[in-house]
Amino acid sequence: MTHKVLVLPGDGIGPEIVTESAKILQYLQQEYGLDIALDYGLLGGCAVDALGAPYPDETRQKARAADAILLGAVGGPKWEMLERPLRPERGLLAIRADLELFANLRPAILYPQLAAASSLKPELVADLDLLIVRELNGDIYFGQPRGIRTLENGEREGFNTMLYRESEIERIARAAFEAARKRHRKVCSVDKANVLETSELWREVVERVARDYPDVALSHQYVDNAAMQLVRAPKQFDVIVTGNLFGDILSDCAAMLTGSIGMLPSASLDAKGKGLYEPIHGSAPDIAGKGAANPLATILSAAMLLRYSLNEPEHAARIEQAVGRVLDQGLRTLDIMAEGMTPVGTQAMGDAVVAAMVGD
Ligand code: NAD
Repeated sequence: MTHKVLVLPGDGIGPEIVTESAKILQYLQQEYGLDIALDYGLLGGCAVDALGAPYPDETRQKARAADAILLGAVGGPKWEMLERPLRPERGLLAIRADLELFANLRPAILYPQLAAASSLKPELVADLDLLIVRELNGDIYFGQPRGIRTLENGEREGFNTMLYRESEIERIARAAFEAARKRHRKVCSVDKANVLETSELWREVVERVARDYPDVALSHQYVDNAAMQLVRAPKQFDVIVTGNLFGDILSDCAAMLTGSIGMLPSASLDAKGKGLYEPIHGSAPDIAGKGAANPLATILSAAMLLRYSLNEPEHAARIEQAVGRVLDQGLRTLDIMAEGMTPVGTQAMGDAVVAAMVGD
């Protein structure tokens, strides 16, 4: 069956990096028989300009029909003054909500060739490969009631509600266990069960789900300890599963362990494994149009798309190995440049990844 992939280049460096990623998919199609059909659509500022909305109907129809979506990035100064519903970032929130993408997968992978870019000692992070599975649609970010109220004495107080239903915990736990089965079969669930009732329920449900995955080892950590462990000994982790708030903070922390924003892919999945794949960085307006952006995070996002939504792990591995080879050759875009390495632009980096796949 032909896999239908919707490509949304977006704004800023988005079109440049997505072009290189699509090139890789097309190469796999031509040379290795990957059965894939690419369609294109508009999301973000470019959609506002062309069609008057950041997530236009046309894109919605295409996104619903696709098996997976590859996104560059959205946003930029041109659209910052628009009223909120028209801002590019609203397009991103809207597509996530529309497709019920509740599981955010953020790998923190450090290629050994880039170990010096990390703020941690190279031996702590070389070969780091952990995956944070963050719940994306619930928690204190969405719980009601919320607001700022004025007390009788005139003082104001802000309040939010941390809230998780059993079904929400169960589906994110399943996403984490499924992902672990494609990796090293270890899940660490992160909560604050010593203080929060929401976390108490979280832990209970995760343990219940774990019984369906006897081949995956489950452990638990309190979030404060997990934050410490991430910077003390990050290689102990395989998959970390956690709620929206804790995941927001821990995933940024884990990303920075690798020291290279231009290298990290991400996925947002629904309950059936359909997903939106994008680099973790933004549209980098400061370097847009200069051919200087690092396309590797988007290329690695395509590899995740093949692994998690299209169930094509061999093609995914081909891409990941080719990226490793290109780094071995000493090719570097400016964001990961180091002494003695060869500087290349966006297109040359994409071409090098294709060349590294030849004869694989
Ligand atoms: P950014 O990630 O776009 O850029 C931060 C810095 O990293 C910049 O100096 C940029 O040049 C550099 N950088 C980012 N990606 C790079 C790459 N692939 N290669 C080389 N260098 C790279 O973050 P920002 O500047 O805070 O945001 C710019 C715009 O992107 C804003 O409009 C923001 O709202 C939007 N944004 C979008 C997303 C998304 O689409 N998911 C995520 C974050 C920010």
